[in-house]
Amino acid sequence: VASTLSTSFSGTSSAPAIIVPAKPNALTISYQQLTQDILDFQKKLAQLGIRNGDAVSISLPNSYEFIVSFLAASWQRGIAAPLNPAYKQDEFEFYIEDLSSAVVIVPRGSYEKNIPAVRASRKYNAAIAECYLKGSRLVLDVKEQGKLAQRQSQTTSHAQPEDVALVLHTSGTTGRPKAVPLTHRNLTRTMQNIQNTYELTPKDRTMLVMPLFHVHGLLAGFLAPLKAGGSVIVPPSFSARSFWDDFITYKANWYTAVPTIHQILLKNPPPNPKPEIRFIRSCSSPLSPKTFQELEQTYGAPVLEAYAMTEAAHQMTSNPLPHKGKRKPGSVGIGQGVEVKILDDEGNEVPQGTAAEICIRGENVTKGYLNNEKANKEAFTKGGFFRTGDQGKKDEEGYVYITGRIKELINRGGEKISPIELDNVIATHPAVSEAVSFAIPSELYGQEVGVAVVLKPGKSVTEQEITEFVAGKTAKFKKPSRVWILKEIPKTATGKIQRRKVADSLLAKDK
Ligand code: ATP
Ligand code: MG
Repeated sequence: VASTLSTSFSGTSSAPAIIVPAKPNALTISYQQLTQDILDFQKKLAQLGIRNGDAVSISLPNSYEFIVSFLAASWQRGIAAPLNPAYKQDEFEFYIEDLSSAVVIVPRGSYEKNIPAVRASRKYNAAIAECYLKGSRLVLDVKEQGKLAQRQSQTTSHAQPEDVALVLHTSGTTGRPKAVPLTHRNLTRTMQNIQNTYELTPKDRTMLVMPLFHVHGLLAGFLAPLKAGGSVIVPPSFSARSFWDDFITYKANWYTAVPTIHQILLKNPPPNPKPEIRFIRSCSSPLSPKTFQELEQTYGAPVLEAYAMTEAAHQMTSNPLPHKGKRKPGSVGIGQGVEVKILDDEGNEVPQGTAAEICIRGENVTKGYLNNEKANKEAFTKGGFFRTGDQGKKDEEGYVYITGRIKELINRGGEKISPIELDNVIATHPAVSEAVSFAIPSELYGQEVGVAVVLKPGKSVTEQEITEFVAGKTAKFKKPSRVWILKEIPKTATGKIQRRKVADSLLAKDK
């Protein structure tokens, strides 16, 4: 069985593995070339002294350099630890210390520019190496050996299924980011699950728009397509214009992204004749039924919403391809090689249709957070199910509906209100482009409903109209007590809304 990254790698496909758009000529890498580059890069890491279990921090943007560094580190029993290159000094220090990184890989020229990743690695005495392409040759230019200076060159050995291949931190939407170790078995299970869900083959070509330093881009946008022997188009950055240019030029036929990206692309649709799209995947944040409809109408392709988290090595559920079953707007679909149960606090299954905590079990799920005994105790039920922290319910066909994060439910005098449900209701108002609901403190009820909305360009509406709109569509207790009309709603790097932060910053203005 292919349960390590190197053995599940589809090295024999004749499709291009990686295409990096560039003018006048794109960089096109075959599977054979990629394999060779990974093996060469492994030798470089071994010479540097990297050995089993060392954390190789990769602070590179989406690029061929990232891809080879990542695969070389993990094939060789190192632990790949991608970092968002846009982090500030404090963030780099937090991650480099948390993982005691052996080396930090940075882009060309960073060392001279002394960017935050370089300064942070120096503080923790990690080796620092710049990685870049010279023509089509990959260079690993070691700038400082740091704590590896004393080490001999290492002989490499193949990774085993239970080795940790990757450590990523959760997005920090609800608190401090938690370090999640994922083994080869965890990752390859998800790769297989995603391949099965979407029936990925060597004929498929995907546009990678999500960052590789989170599970969404890494697993669904890159590793699963690669396992299937397909092609991954890797633009250096995202813009709506170049997205469609590249999509058409390099004959992509699907992509996966967060709802924010889908919305940006909807505002800048592809030119006619429209490209043929096999399916569009949406994940990581709730996709409103309204955006779902707009996407399907605009692209004439099925939109498949999935549900994922870092601790599950990304995917847990998804809506199926059309020939396999129905797509249900507002639902994240059904378990995909992952058991999904709705459990109460004691770990017992609740009656169908009742909302409680979504819990999961499968080979993809992490064994537990790094250095976080407290979180690990709370994370698993007695039956070995992982508690996602999300509240949801199943319909009679087993489709899962997420109703909110347990920490973010609005508790108005004992009535629990789902912020996602309210967001979706408000988003159907013709003047509204985006809505966020959250709890605001209330003397009378403990909490009441607050709502922030962003309007569509050229539209106007009053706070009162929004309140009345909600009152006309939901039970009375869900009616917002306060409405804010904003120009924009701040989001995390993965396009997530931190409801608590939005609420706190708006309420702070009262003081
Ligand atoms: P932290 O755990 O640090 O607070 P986070 O949970 O946002 O941050 P991730 O692991 O990146 O970190 O995100 C997983 C979460 O994203 C899920 O638990 C769920 O709340 C949310 N999510 C993922 N997919 C969807 C979806 N399709 N609809 C609604 N929410 C989703
Ligand atoms: Mg989480």
